[in-house]
Amino acid sequence: MRKPFFKKYATSAMITLLLLVVLSACNSAPESSAEQEKTERPIIVQGPMPIEAEEFAQKLENVTEENSGSFVFYKGTVDDYPVIVTKTGKGMENTAAATALAIEKYNPIAIINQGTSGGHDPELDVFDIVLGQRTTNTGSLKTTNLAENEGIEPTEWKPMDLMASEGSAGEDPDAENIRYFDGDKDLLAAANAVKEEYTKGKVVEGTIGSADVWNNEIDRIKWFHENYGTSVEEMEGAAGAQIAQAFDVPFLGIRILSNNKVNGGEYNPNTAEANQEYVYKVVQQYIKDQKDN
Ligand code: SAH
Repeated sequence: MRKPFFKKYATSAMITLLLLVVLSACNSAPESSAEQEKTERPIIVQGPMPIEAEEFAQKLENVTEENSGSFVFYKGTVDDYPVIVTKTGKGMENTAAATALAIEKYNPIAIINQGTSGGHDPELDVFDIVLGQRTTNTGSLKTTNLAENEGIEPTEWKPMDLMASEGSAGEDPDAENIRYFDGDKDLLAAANAVKEEYTKGKVVEGTIGSADVWNNEIDRIKWFHENYGTSVEEMEGAAGAQIAQAFDVPFLGIRILSNNKVNGGEYNPNTAEANQEYVYKVVQQYIKDQKDN
């Protein structure tokens, strides 16, 4: 009597188990898990100074604040999609570290580095916006060989590509090239799609030059404009771009001119807010594109 009863019980238990397995497999159909992953990966929006990050942070919904080192991460949503605003602090080192941290902590789908900049192009005015079709480190330079008392020749300095090889950049002539980081094409497409909505100036694609340097010598600015094709200079973009590339995360720099030495454009701090208003629209467009795809 005991054996058949056990057999019967075991069979029905197995059928129940199988049913459960089949049902749970149905629940995680491929489309829904892909959808879920999309909505889970946040967009990171970086700003160096309080005036370059806090305006955007205030626009977020459901915000919580997370701190790591000197970096502040405002985690919230835009149109129900996760967006994390990072106040990185100024300069290349802060930006590189904040970018690596954000990637490790939050697995972002994309990174936008935005803020103010100084014009290198005489055609660009304060309040115009440059979309970083490419970004480059203008502080990565190799000087000429001059002996004592022969002076310094900054216009003869050569670009130095620290990513050309793992060998010595100082000895390697192949490293004497400008390294450009390309802006992500989907982020650029989203930025171009909403550019007509920006009314305080024009929005153009261009080259963003970054270094821990504020250039006020017009001839030096012209030298970069001619030799590197820079539209604007700032102190963060190329650092973020380099780290984003190291982790294969889509990246775009978006910089408003707060000053332009080349055509007499006086520094205006209100540009920081105008840029964040525009970048907010870019983020909304990018989210829309993600949902449509
Ligand atoms: N210590 C400087 C200010 C630095 S602020 C001073 O007191 O004069 C620099 C910040 O503004 C950086 O985050 C940089 O990205 C941005 N920026 C705006 N215009 C710039 C310019 N012409 N050159 C370099 N950075 C600029």
